[in-house]
Amino acid sequence: MAPVETKEYDYIVIGGGSGGSGSARRAAGWYGAKTLIVESGRAGGTCVNVGCVPKKMTWNFASINENLHAGRHYGYDIPHDVKIDYTHFKRIRDATIERLNGSYERNWNKEGIDLVHGRARFVEPKTIEVTLNDGSGKARYTAKHILIATGGHPIVPDVPGAEHGITSDGFFELEELPRKWAVVGAGYIAVELAGVLAAVGVETHMFIRGDTFLRKFDPMIQETMTQRYEAVGIHIHKGHKGFKEIQLLRDGKGADKLLKLIGKDGDELEVNELLWAVGRAPAVEDLGLDVAGVKQTHTGHIIVDEYQNTSVDGIYALGDVTGQVELTPVAIAAGRQLGSRLFGPPELKSSKLSYENIPTVVFAHPEVGTVGLTEPQARQKYGDDKVKVYQTRFTSMFYDPFPAEEKKKNPTQMKIVCAGPEEKVVGLHILGLGVGEMLQGFGVAVKMGATKQDFDSCVAIHPTSAEELVTMR
Ligand code: FAD
Ligand code: NDP
Repeated sequence: MAPVETKEYDYIVIGGGSGGSGSARRAAGWYGAKTLIVESGRAGGTCVNVGCVPKKMTWNFASINENLHAGRHYGYDIPHDVKIDYTHFKRIRDATIERLNGSYERNWNKEGIDLVHGRARFVEPKTIEVTLNDGSGKARYTAKHILIATGGHPIVPDVPGAEHGITSDGFFELEELPRKWAVVGAGYIAVELAGVLAAVGVETHMFIRGDTFLRKFDPMIQETMTQRYEAVGIHIHKGHKGFKEIQLLRDGKGADKLLKLIGKDGDELEVNELLWAVGRAPAVEDLGLDVAGVKQTHTGHIIVDEYQNTSVDGIYALGDVTGQVELTPVAIAAGRQLGSRLFGPPELKSSKLSYENIPTVVFAHPEVGTVGLTEPQARQKYGDDKVKVYQTRFTSMFYDPFPAEEKKKNPTQMKIVCAGPEEKVVGLHILGLGVGEMLQGFGVAVKMGATKQDFDSCVAIHPTSAEELVTMR
């Protein structure tokens, strides 16, 4: 058999998602490194295909139904039986994703990056073998610098019949809405996807292990958001012990599918769909990390230092596969910093991403925004006597025309956590209408080390909800 030819690059990037694309474009587009991206799926990775983009579009779709409801309180004569064509919406969403897939590949091409569609694995410490997607065989590549940016995938728990449910990947394949569904989990994905379907009238059951969801967030967020979801009619099964079995009673689409969920405590529920949203695992299964000698944590995530170096010289990792903050802009920023460090001018040779004070938004109903430490984290870090907390709770003016009972269900809440005599803002937590757009600017202030006095010295913009953040006592 003829030996397989090994093609050489300056930089090989495994995974054309947020982090891989960001890094390859910096290396090739800015600094002219001869770069190869190997991508086994669709360009853009999780965010573009089964993450941020289709999720935010679905959040927008659901928000329209909420606004139809608001419109009635404002005096618009909107019928109560407005029909929702979810299949139409899915088609539009799919078209947006396809457009983005094309634009990713065009940008790579413009910047001189080679692209190979296939699955990569290490066959030697600095050589990868790619099984080509078009079935034409395998190809080998080598480089001085190799980046692993393979992301992750949803976890499906080990429950008999679990395969009859879906994960977030399957959620974006649904062509029809279920009438009644169950969501298992308590993190970003569970809260976001339960929220969108509940907002379009799907009977929603959430199964959580604790008393609140979003348990990694500030207690104010956990408590108010859990109450808010209950107030709008989402059934939250708290302290749930997990499932014994999932039975498929009837296969089909939308309301035609029927599942029976049997809990460990003997509880039973019939639903049209079941979503597992219990976290994600790193995509490392067939990468041959042992061949390269790349070390992993007990959860399989790749161990990296602050410069994204793995345990092997010249092999780097970033994004979800490392289990650091699992957000698209984090993967992109880490990728760009690495590209600059490896191929940029001497003054960038120690470039790295600061993982402190990263702002994040949960696209729930309403949205949640957070940056910095929760109140308990701040108290633990600085001591009770060094921490001062400012909070407010009010109803946004948008809900003025709503009846009192409904107003109560739509709070806006804000918390500023300060530390030290200078009252440096070390945590900011907000929930309510429009907070997703509000947080970015405040994120800059927190990153710059703003104090409560700096917040107060900024003149308010009136009438907004955001003005409360600069007028709190
Ligand atoms: P990915 O984007 O997952 O890219 C990895 C790529 O590697 C994939 O394209 C994969 O096909 C490829 N690959 C894997 N193995 C191989 C191999 N062996 N050979 C070749 N290619 C391979 N983040 C936000 O900031 N905001 C949001 O609103 C948001 N919403 C989300 C909603 C959902 C439902 C999900 C699941 C995630 C969401 N995220 C969000 C998180 C965000 O999508 C991820 O943090 C981000 O995509 C991680 O980027 P990455 O480059 O590490 O990996
Ligand atoms: P998360 O880590 O956010 O949440 C998973 C949660 O599920 C856990 O915190 C846990 O909560 C619960 N859980 C774990 N195991 C079980 C179980 N066996 N049964 C029931 N519940 C369980 O993971 P996600 O999958 O929701 O999201 C992955 C990551 O993707 C996020 O952490 C985030 O970084 C990113 N993402 C970002 C978004 C955004 O920026 N808007 C949107 C979506 C995802 P508990 O301990 O309370 O039970």
